[in-house]
Amino acid sequence: MSSAVVVSSENLDGQQQSSSTPASPAAEKVNLLGMSRAQLEKFFEDIGEKKFRAGQVMKWIHQYFVTDFAEMTNISGKLRAKLEQICEIKAPEVVHRHYSKDGTRKWVFRVGEGAGSLVETVLIPAEDKTGLRKTLCISSQVGCALDCSFCSTGKQGFQRDLTPDEIIGQLWMANYSYMEEVPVADRERSVTNVVMMGMGEPLLNYDAVLSSMQIMLDDFAYGMSKRRVTLSTSGVVPKIDQLAQDIDVALAISLHAPNDELRNELVPINKKYPLAQLIAACQRYIAKDGNESTRKHVTIEYVMLEGVNDQPEHAQQMIKLLKNLPSKINLIPFNPFPHAPYGRSSRNRIISFQKTLSDAGFVCTIRQTRGDDIDAACGQLVGQVADRTRRAEQWQKKVTQRQEILRTQG
Ligand code: SF4
Repeated sequence: MSSAVVVSSENLDGQQQSSSTPASPAAEKVNLLGMSRAQLEKFFEDIGEKKFRAGQVMKWIHQYFVTDFAEMTNISGKLRAKLEQICEIKAPEVVHRHYSKDGTRKWVFRVGEGAGSLVETVLIPAEDKTGLRKTLCISSQVGCALDCSFCSTGKQGFQRDLTPDEIIGQLWMANYSYMEEVPVADRERSVTNVVMMGMGEPLLNYDAVLSSMQIMLDDFAYGMSKRRVTLSTSGVVPKIDQLAQDIDVALAISLHAPNDELRNELVPINKKYPLAQLIAACQRYIAKDGNESTRKHVTIEYVMLEGVNDQPEHAQQMIKLLKNLPSKINLIPFNPFPHAPYGRSSRNRIISFQKTLSDAGFVCTIRQTRGDDIDAACGQLVGQVADRTRRAEQWQKKVTQRQEILRTQG
């Protein structure tokens, strides 16, 4: 595999666009890329074939990254010709790809017409005790309706849900990016971890996200460990309960504030599902299957906003809030985007916040900022998008007022 290749975005930007995208057969063909095994089995039965063909084709698509039926050598020529006629394997169109100096890779996919029909996917490599991890941050919607005040995606408003083939297509393409030059027989998947943490709220596109995660876990497809697939939500409480019934994956919560008043401002869905309900849902998620490693804790994501949620009293409130919830806390230095109404907390402030939580017995890490040179860092997805909602302006006013109060308090 060519995972060691590190090039600048300038070298690759635009250069490989046409070669990265699989052939585009006629639009009316059935796209097999986003079908779960059950759906593929039904598809083969419906066309008068044995359902075990589903597993064979899934392996070709998701393990060997083959999009041409002619290359599926364990399938008869007659069936290959039939498949060629009626279906296709088609990932979303890549319009830009950027490879950061630090190994981070970002793809911009076009998923419709018009300037707003773009989604981004980011792959972040990192060494840990298990070796080289390649974590892919996948988008689930075009834009987002939830309007979190610190989030560049929220500033776009909601366009539409992604389909399963557009969601799994992001994972397919990220793996394929390491395989383009590798002979089919030697190909193996490269992405080790997935976080459903890109553009959009995954639990508001539930069915498509669920079926995509089933493909990630399926041994005939990516065969990923359930500990390595994480769904991150801002707190759609009823869907957290549904998720607990439907699939076993790791859960992360975009918390970002330790009290309802502040969270109502930063993560407005909190007005519908306040913290007490959210924490209770997390506890139920864990209780569902406490012996499984995926369900031993939830990850708490907390973006550090200067003068907004990074004060000592916020750390104390976090300790109180999370005292009965097995959790690991991940502090995220804020990545400013154009017109962002917030600033990043200072390094000292973040370290002191971390220390308070660690001293209270929490596992608390600080996320390393990656991919700054290609706008791939957390919160920067589609970072150049115009602020259509003027929300940033309103928030800037509030933040300035709050910082002024803190300054006068001293
Ligand atoms: S943080 Fe997530 S849920 Fe909130 S607006 Fe951004 S994409 Fe949507």
